[in-house]
Amino acid sequence: MSIQTLEPRLADVGGIPIARLLPNKGKQPIGAWCFLDHAGPAEFGEQEPGLQVGRHPHTNLQTFTWMLEGEVLHKDSLGNEQVITKNKVNLMTAGTGLTQGISHTEQSVFPDNGGSDEAAHALHAVQLWIALPTDQQIERSFHHYPDLPTWTENDVKLTLTTGSYTNTARDTYTAPTLQYSKLVGIDVHFMQDSEVTLNLFEGFEHGILVVVGEVEFKGKTYQQDELIRFDEADITDKRSVQVRATQGTRLMFLGGEPLNQKVLLWWNFVADNKEDIEQSIIDWNNGHERFGNVDSDMKRLIAPELPQGFKG
Ligand code: MN
Repeated sequence: MSIQTLEPRLADVGGIPIARLLPNKGKQPIGAWCFLDHAGPAEFGEQEPGLQVGRHPHTNLQTFTWMLEGEVLHKDSLGNEQVITKNKVNLMTAGTGLTQGISHTEQSVFPDNGGSDEAAHALHAVQLWIALPTDQQIERSFHHYPDLPTWTENDVKLTLTTGSYTNTARDTYTAPTLQYSKLVGIDVHFMQDSEVTLNLFEGFEHGILVVVGEVEFKGKTYQQDELIRFDEADITDKRSVQVRATQGTRLMFLGGEPLNQKVLLWWNFVADNKEDIEQSIIDWNNGHERFGNVDSDMKRLIAPELPQGFKG
């Protein structure tokens, strides 16, 4: 099996330090998982506002938010308002094509402004984008998933955030999360020093993001914010991987069937061709109704122009 290690690019989103693992220099998505931000962990002072991401659009993708710590209020142009708390998934689907699109805001909430009594002055989350198959006509939608299948193997707690998975004990779990291409996403949390077997899917690409701690795989150690990527061709003779880690380590195991299309990313847009990205920039910056309105007084972000030489 050939394995790539991807190093993160560091950035700031809405006031929070993030490590961006995808997109990554010349590297393709893992199935339809095309964008991977690890936000935080960040602690806020009592007077600090935390995450503040103003009104912005999305196209041809799903935003998939998996919360580890802190609480964030999501508001979108469909009229949804949803606080996401730890161990839950928010999934927003932008729809496909030039007549669809969605916009939203995201902001930290605390016990005094809409969060629960337990809301920490902190943020720790994984935000991923899932590229939508553009040969399907997909409508915009928003879903919140508070109840996800969890189980324990070898003192390791696994939570299935999307997809279906059969573990080494041959128990099969299925998450309710809406999918438009075959995907799997599992939060892997080591309650003790242990080893766990992760089963691979035939025809999928796979990756492991080290969210907290470090993990040992085939005698090599991978650090927090590194992404281990396995290519489809590398696993034809391999049905599982074993990873070892110490107590407290947390991983995100991702897999997906490769999409049979180009996946171009610019700012908050995904498309399968450059012209659709250019049109989406024009539409958003001119207030086109395809992106709707969010009932919020947060700042409206402006889409930057495509750089010269953007490869279509
Ligand atoms: Mn967004």
